[in-house]
Amino acid sequence: MAGGSIPSRRLTVLSGPSGVGKSTVVAEIRRAHPQVWLSVSVTTRAPRPGEIHGVHYFFADDAEFDRLIDEDQLLEWAEFAGNRYGTPRRAVLEHLAAGVPALLEIDLQGARQVRASMREARLVFLAPPSWEELVRRLVGRGTEPPDVVERRLATARAELAAEKEFDLTLVNTSVKDVCRDLISLLAVHPSDD
Ligand code: 5GP
Repeated sequence: MAGGSIPSRRLTVLSGPSGVGKSTVVAEIRRAHPQVWLSVSVTTRAPRPGEIHGVHYFFADDAEFDRLIDEDQLLEWAEFAGNRYGTPRRAVLEHLAAGVPALLEIDLQGARQVRASMREARLVFLAPPSWEELVRRLVGRGTEPPDVVERRLATARAELAAEKEFDLTLVNTSVKDVCRDLISLLAVHPSDD
């Protein structure tokens, strides 16, 4: 399938700083809007309690992930907190080719790769309601050592600066509002009239 013929304007990428609540938004979309097609990523991290292979992630070992990279089966991939995560290319392209909107929830490194390879994709930045709120979420219960906290905050500052690379920003004041806005975005595309 030629990449150039894929209508990538139907591809929406949700990204943003870590701790901003991307996975909560996606969990709510799964629950309230099961008709939305969400890409299922491959990851080398271990499943968390309740996570189902093929639903939340495809869990793979390092050798399997290496094979997917070698065979060019990933649309993008990145290393995050010591594990690798990637988007299987074929499922995304098949949905787009069939005219079905596709939603990816990935980190910033991945969003940049999608921008580079699929120019028409819509990149949505999920922003925290305020810097203080992001700090509160990242610092959590305050049980982390100060150097860990400082590293997280430095990363968060750099991640927030990525907002200008995105097509639009949704502020995560309420999970329900963000989901509603995302759902309406998925239904409308710049070249649809
Ligand atoms: P978690 O381990 O908490 O599920 O995810 C950690 C981070 O990996 C989150 O920022 C999430 O957006 C990101 N992520 C999940 N799947 C993918 C993927 O396929 N590609 C990239 N680049 N990041 C991903």
